[in-house]
Amino acid sequence: MFNNGACRCSHGGACGPRSETEAPLSDNAARYATIHKDPSSLAVPPNLADYDAACAGFSWKVAHRALSGLPNGEGLNIAYEAVDRHACGPRASRVALRCISKAGERRDYTYGELAASTNRFANGLRSLGMDAGDGVFVLLGRVPELYVAMLGALKMKCVVTPLFSAFGPEPIATRMEIGDARVLVTTETLYRRKVEALRGRLPRLEHVILVDAEEPGEGVHSWRKLTQTASDAFEIAPTDAQETALLHFTSGTTGRPKGVIHVHEAVVTHFATGLYALDLHDDDRFWCTADPGWVTGTSYGVIAPLTHGVTNIVVEAEFDAPTWYGVLAQERVTVWYTAPTAIRMMMKLGADALKDYDLSALRFAASVGEPLNAEAVVWGAEAFGLPFHDNWWQTETGGIMIANFASMDIKPGSMGRPLPGIEAAIVRRKPDGGVETADVGQEGELALKSGWPSMMRGYLHEEARYRKCFAGEWYLTGDLARCDGDGYFWFVGRADDVIKSSGHLIGPFEVESALMEHPAVAEAAVIGKPDPVAGEIVKAFVALKLGFAADEAMRKELLGNARKRLGAAVAPKEIEFRANLPKTRSGKIMRRLLKARELGLPEGDLSTLESDER
Ligand code: ATP
Ligand code: MG
Repeated sequence: MFNNGACRCSHGGACGPRSETEAPLSDNAARYATIHKDPSSLAVPPNLADYDAACAGFSWKVAHRALSGLPNGEGLNIAYEAVDRHACGPRASRVALRCISKAGERRDYTYGELAASTNRFANGLRSLGMDAGDGVFVLLGRVPELYVAMLGALKMKCVVTPLFSAFGPEPIATRMEIGDARVLVTTETLYRRKVEALRGRLPRLEHVILVDAEEPGEGVHSWRKLTQTASDAFEIAPTDAQETALLHFTSGTTGRPKGVIHVHEAVVTHFATGLYALDLHDDDRFWCTADPGWVTGTSYGVIAPLTHGVTNIVVEAEFDAPTWYGVLAQERVTVWYTAPTAIRMMMKLGADALKDYDLSALRFAASVGEPLNAEAVVWGAEAFGLPFHDNWWQTETGGIMIANFASMDIKPGSMGRPLPGIEAAIVRRKPDGGVETADVGQEGELALKSGWPSMMRGYLHEEARYRKCFAGEWYLTGDLARCDGDGYFWFVGRADDVIKSSGHLIGPFEVESALMEHPAVAEAAVIGKPDPVAGEIVKAFVALKLGFAADEAMRKELLGNARKRLGAAVAPKEIEFRANLPKTRSGKIMRRLLKARELGLPEGDLSTLESDER
């Protein structure tokens, strides 16, 4: 079905090194030495030792066979692959979930216990009259019930939507309205503060289950009462791999969040990417720092590690360096999946903050969600003794598509190469609605050939928008990138964020990365600001690290450095200092908001905005 893992620039993969006349694609590569890997010297043999061989031999059909499938050939269900198949085998007594509360208390669930708890919850849903296809929303912090509810609801074949518990009432109600929620699992406080008053808007919402209330009242159930008398045996009904399993909302970085539909078959991608991109091995202790309210926290904070039968560490607390370093050390985390925002916060504090922690168990660290500046990759290698492996994907793709693999040389600043089974290309849209592939090194839209198992099956209630994402067999991602002669992909920016200045097309990432190279800079975001002469000029918003003064001298120094590094046409013309940059709750810088504020335009949908410091 697929060609595998290939860079599909029109050079056919046989191009030589970058010529002098090409865009400054490889500036990062040139400035930051490639980090060479020797697979034979890694702590454990990597699952993907030979990229080309793995790609050549890969098929999704074969990948599918690595999973168990429901007994008696009754289909494929995510929760069975994540829990039950281990619970009925030798991993039954292994810790599946280690949940660490904000107070630092640990609560462990073995695979056997997780199977029983999720069965009880599935039976509880059944006793409420729920059926396959019904919408179950979960509004909880990262507490054990979140994981039990999600997996139990998947066993019932309900459609699960985890929501970020820090959302305000309006985003919660809107999403529940769109997603046709029939059940909400939450806490008493969250319910009273955020949902109760808006319940009139949610006529389809029949049951609210409160995880911490004993006598909740009409239409509101106590989790304990619902589950304590329920049987801990549950047989998953036959599940077609194409049945809807999850409804995820996008981060809302570029506009109003979209409701993305995923099916049970997605678990094939979760397993395969856990194997190759995260290099999961049987005895790993894995920690994904993302909240399940975002797709990363579901695909990799719940499903992928459990399908591999490893111990999944769940941390309730938000980022705080001592807590995080403490978790890495005490839990002997071996594989860690985090995000650029967190990495930049750690960089802000400096590597010294790490010196009292024993991180010797850590053997692989990966990052997703935003471009990972080359600076951060290299900093990881210095501070943790291993580089961060950037990977790229979206809510729509359901799983990792492009990655830096454990065995593969890293070119700092690059997203890496496509997963086995994924064909990626840089394309240009043609006026007739088709696309053509770009030359090596040239910018264009990142496109993926349709057909991998975790590809979205639609945007809920937005069929036309969904169809617009495709040109023939290509799924168009809305991100701009380049592919180099070695098949490595380099992020340029979101199509919406590209700046047009005096005839140049400027990708924000390149400019932000150049600013980040200055030791004082913690974060940077650039926008295009209308200009009568140039069309747009580049304006940068910069947050400095602790101990640096945001004064005129610093501004001049950063402008001068950027000009030297990027040339006058691409460098920012203006710099504004901020204590923080506005971000989505999943940690993405909201350039559209910086721009709207700069231009005095409407701010648009802010339902996912986290920090809002002007
Ligand atoms: P919305 O679609 O609502 O605007 P969003 O695109 O931020 O929000 P997500 O699906 O959570 O929602 O994020 C996917 C996007 O995040 C990608 O399309 C890309 O722009 C960005 N991204 C993810 N990983 C990387 C990466 N490694 N490098 C660069 N960008 C990345
Ligand atoms: Mg998006």
